[in-house]
Amino acid sequence: AQTRYASLRDKPATAKCGTTISLHMNAGLMADLPSLAGSGAEGVGLFRTELQFLIRNHVPKRAELAGIYSGVMDAAHGKRVVFRTLDIGSDKVLPYMKRVEEPNPAMGWRAIRVALDKPGIMRMQLQALLRAANGRPMSIMFPFVAEYEEFRTARQMLKDEVERERRLGHKLPGALEIGAMLETPSLAYAPKEFFETADFISVGGNDLKQFFFAADRENETVRRRYDMLNASFLHFLCHIVDRCAETRTDLSFCGEDAGRPIEALTLAAIGFRTLSMRPASIGPVKHLIRRVNLTELRAVIEAECEAGVTNVRAGVVNWLAKQDI
Ligand code: PEP
Ligand code: MG
Repeated sequence: AQTRYASLRDKPATAKCGTTISLHMNAGLMADLPSLAGSGAEGVGLFRTELQFLIRNHVPKRAELAGIYSGVMDAAHGKRVVFRTLDIGSDKVLPYMKRVEEPNPAMGWRAIRVALDKPGIMRMQLQALLRAANGRPMSIMFPFVAEYEEFRTARQMLKDEVERERRLGHKLPGALEIGAMLETPSLAYAPKEFFETADFISVGGNDLKQFFFAADRENETVRRRYDMLNASFLHFLCHIVDRCAETRTDLSFCGEDAGRPIEALTLAAIGFRTLSMRPASIGPVKHLIRRVNLTELRAVIEAECEAGVTNVRAGVVNWLAKQDI
């Protein structure tokens, strides 16, 4: 598949209406980085940092992590890499962490909640990231933020670490972008100040969808019952697009749906300008975007919603069948 789309590698994902969508890749290992050049991704929109913690039987050392993050940045050759701080808990349990039995771990003590309650590991990780940058621009985002206050506190922790690095005489990142993942419906209704303060927001559609529909993403019986093309969910995503537009906050979508053809087109049509997906999806998604008029698709989706359908998939698929793909 990569060779089929190789000719598109250096071309932009510009639709027939003239809108350009920025396509990035998701990664989590150094071994994923060669795909950056191969896929034609503009950068790494989501670097999940859990794996380095999961594959060891002890907390990795700061220098070790800094080495890995620095290697990732080297391999990106100046392309943007968005590092997501540790999202443990839920389905990702560290073997060396005292396990807390929780009835609903996905809604439990995970991600930024752990980081704020027991800040030791996150501070160490932030130091490792700042050292890895070593003067280069750095982008960091916090996972699973449910309210503005959590983001504010985490952001302050990061600023404190920058100050500490300065005092120690270490080189600071050339620029520092601090973002949040929007993965809980509550954050979409956060005060305007949140949207103004965040340098960027990335929608974690996997979690956002599971909490929007109250349907466990790990539960085979219910996980396919609702999908992104559900009109209520699209309405909600449009609300997020509007809020970010109001404050001119950079917005991206990095859940699995960004790499699915119908879903990716729909996201682009409702206003997402940056999508981050598995590398193998970049070629096919770019190909599709270049073949369609997103303004026209937006009108199709709006008409479907106006007509009161529960899910716009059939409408989008019918429209797509008439396009010259
Ligand atoms: C998401 O929830 O959509 C996401 C990108 O994060 P993860 O899949 O790692 O929970
Ligand atoms: Mg998530």
